[in-house]
Amino acid sequence: MKKFIMFFLICVVILTGCATTNQKTIKKASKNLTEYSMDIVYDNYTLNVNQNVNYINKDSAMHDKLYFHLYPNNFDAGATNKPVSSLHYDRAYPNGFSAGNIQIESVQLNGNDAKYVFVGADNDFLEIALDDSVAPDDKCTISMQYSVTIPNCLHRFGYGDNTINVANFYPILCVYEEGKWLMEPYHSNGDPFYSCVANYNVNITYPSNLIIAHTGYDTNTSVGETTTTLFTSALAVRDYAFVISDKFQVVSGKAGDTQVNYFYYDDDHALDSLQAGIDAINTFSSTFGSYPYQTFNVVKANFIHGGMEFPNLVYISDAVREKADYLNVIIHETAHQWWYGLVGSDAYRFGWLDEGLTDYSCAVFYKANESYGVDYDKLMQSTMDNYHTFVDIYTKVLGNIDTSMNRNIADYNSEAEYVYLAYVKGALLFDNISQVIGYNKLMKVLSAYFEKYKFTNVTPDNFIDTLEKISKREMRSYVNSWLEGKVKL
Ligand SMILES: [Zn+2]
Repeated sequence: MKKFIMFFLICVVILTGCATTNQKTIKKASKNLTEYSMDIVYDNYTLNVNQNVNYINKDSAMHDKLYFHLYPNNFDAGATNKPVSSLHYDRAYPNGFSAGNIQIESVQLNGNDAKYVFVGADNDFLEIALDDSVAPDDKCTISMQYSVTIPNCLHRFGYGDNTINVANFYPILCVYEEGKWLMEPYHSNGDPFYSCVANYNVNITYPSNLIIAHTGYDTNTSVGETTTTLFTSALAVRDYAFVISDKFQVVSGKAGDTQVNYFYYDDDHALDSLQAGIDAINTFSSTFGSYPYQTFNVVKANFIHGGMEFPNLVYISDAVREKADYLNVIIHETAHQWWYGLVGSDAYRFGWLDEGLTDYSCAVFYKANESYGVDYDKLMQSTMDNYHTFVDIYTKVLGNIDTSMNRNIADYNSEAEYVYLAYVKGALLFDNISQVIGYNKLMKVLSAYFEKYKFTNVTPDNFIDTLEKISKREMRSYVNSWLEGKVKL
């Protein structure tokens, strides 16, 4: 996500793949994955959904229960773990508080009624008991029927005057790691999401006057008297989101064999916005490794922060008014297709690993695209200046400052502290690595890291291992000193 914070300033085309290569990449990556199938009927800010999950246990442990996130319940009245902090409350709810939630109506396991309970402070997890334990590589089928109420909230999940943002709306499997299910609650800091790559077949029925931008690609369309059904698929992605509007205009172009679409309203520079998405896909494909999907949708949306990344689809906030800032958000969210979308990591615990690298990737973009008029060295210097100002202010106010980056998002003292450490100091870490091992060597590290870990989930150790292997230097203690807040910048 790109945060929208005052004085947080961070603010060719050699394609490495061809259609056949990318199609082969996706075909291989999508083999033997859990599959989500959804039939969604949208009307008047509600969804009625039939969901089928063909689950494949990819973990090394037996499972006798499965856990799903129910993020919409964090938007409900009285929720403990709210998605919106008091700092942003008025902007997020321009018409006063509006509740969102998910009502699970029934759940079946392999076609029979399942035993399930809601857990978590906000009933924001669904625990389903399995009749027989599911062994590694074994399968089971979970079916659910549910309805979703979308709140009037300018957030990832919510609607405003121009768009209906439908993300984090469906039960999605928690990640099982190191012998436990990771069930961190929602948090207003950062992007509190973590999931595994899966395949999606999603059909959306909606009033025909609306236009939908979504993760994945269209496989068919059926037009009825008053409604349209869009049949979509998305293979080897870690989430599925869509945005609805009756105001969308669309411009499209190509980045290699990827169709890039820009869905917008009120943009005098629509073609420049589209071009930024195309340039970003091309630059990051040639620098880090090929973007393998058929589509990429840049979507203007009612959203209180700068932008938000989902697989194949990014929100760009209509509250970002300056053109250069708007293009910067497009570049940032596009970089997340590599660092989040393809190389996944736990954003609760390792915010710097995707946000720091994503913000640093913007500097890489500007270095490769001089026409954008942002000088790499000046950008990194202003990033450092911002960081120093943050440290000075916090030290004066609090007497001292914790600059460690290896904290859970809930353990930062404020949103600003999280932003300056995960994004700003995170970007400075990658720039500093480039000074230690050389810029071109760092690009080799990042492309090797991408190639080895795309479609998987990583930890900081995976990055450090790749860094040491490519640079042929001991780098662990150096990186750890940054993460632990021991380096004085
Ligand atoms: Zn971000």
